[in-house]
Amino acid sequence: MALEALKDVVRKIKSSSSIDKYLVEEIVRDIQRALLRADVNVRHVKQISDAIKKRALSEDVLPTFNVREHIIKIVYEELMRGIGEGLDIPLKKAKIMLVGLQGSGKTTTTAKMAKYFKDKGLKAGVITADTWRPAAYDQLKQLAEAYDIGFYGDKNEKDAVKIVRDGLEKMKDYDIIIIDTAGRHALEEGLINEMIEISRVANPDYKLLVLDAAIGQLASTQAKRFHDAIGIDGIVITKFDGTAKGGGALSAAREIGIPIAFLGTGEKVEDFEKFDPAGFVSRLLG
Ligand code: GDP
Repeated sequence: MALEALKDVVRKIKSSSSIDKYLVEEIVRDIQRALLRADVNVRHVKQISDAIKKRALSEDVLPTFNVREHIIKIVYEELMRGIGEGLDIPLKKAKIMLVGLQGSGKTTTTAKMAKYFKDKGLKAGVITADTWRPAAYDQLKQLAEAYDIGFYGDKNEKDAVKIVRDGLEKMKDYDIIIIDTAGRHALEEGLINEMIEISRVANPDYKLLVLDAAIGQLASTQAKRFHDAIGIDGIVITKFDGTAKGGGALSAAREIGIPIAFLGTGEKVEDFEKFDPAGFVSRLLG
């Protein structure tokens, strides 16, 4: 992952004998390069790097810090500011609707998320309303059975809205219900209408957009379209493990002002984490 290069920046700061204007400029350039390689959008890169430079050159070092720690603290704080807050979904009764294009990882994410909440002690169930991709039914059913998660689907029913209505009725006593909806190759009218209708019937507490990290900065246009169509509460970035372009989806979320809720970090159901900006930036910096 391109953002890994930020660890080298921290190493460079730590190993420098003195920190002067030239070193700050070099560090800022290294950070810019790492962010751009990770597909963070240029405007965003400029904001972050300008802020780091300005603060590093002007702020007094606090008595409790040495100058290296001071610079690292600034880098950390400005990256945190650049990322924004994550979406915290409280551990209580909720309906969550997942939307996204086909192949984004929606079905996998549905199972991952249900297991995540089940592991936290909630009764979790999933509804498969992806009538567009028939294999989604078996895929989700198998995962739900393997992890002892409630499942509702109707293979013979083509009306996704009816499936959702019936599923919610059957799962009334569940704490967390995650609804996997259909994706298409593009956000076309049929998909939008179906999403609106399911959202009306399900009245979800959270509508989460599943975005494939590999699309890099294209995430921005995609997220905007979904947000305009149905209003998105949070983003799940999938396939964060397999791409150097993850910064694109991160900066897209920030640009549109939608918080990131979770990250998908692999194909297995366990490869999933709540998005914690502080932990995330700390790990990036080593
Ligand atoms: P859907 O069409 O949106 O429901 O997509 P799927 O859930 O079927 O996922 C499409 C492909 O992406 C599958 O091969 C998944 O195993 C894979 N996938 C999903 N999430 C991740 C992830 O976080 N990391 C990796 N490496 N692969 C993922």
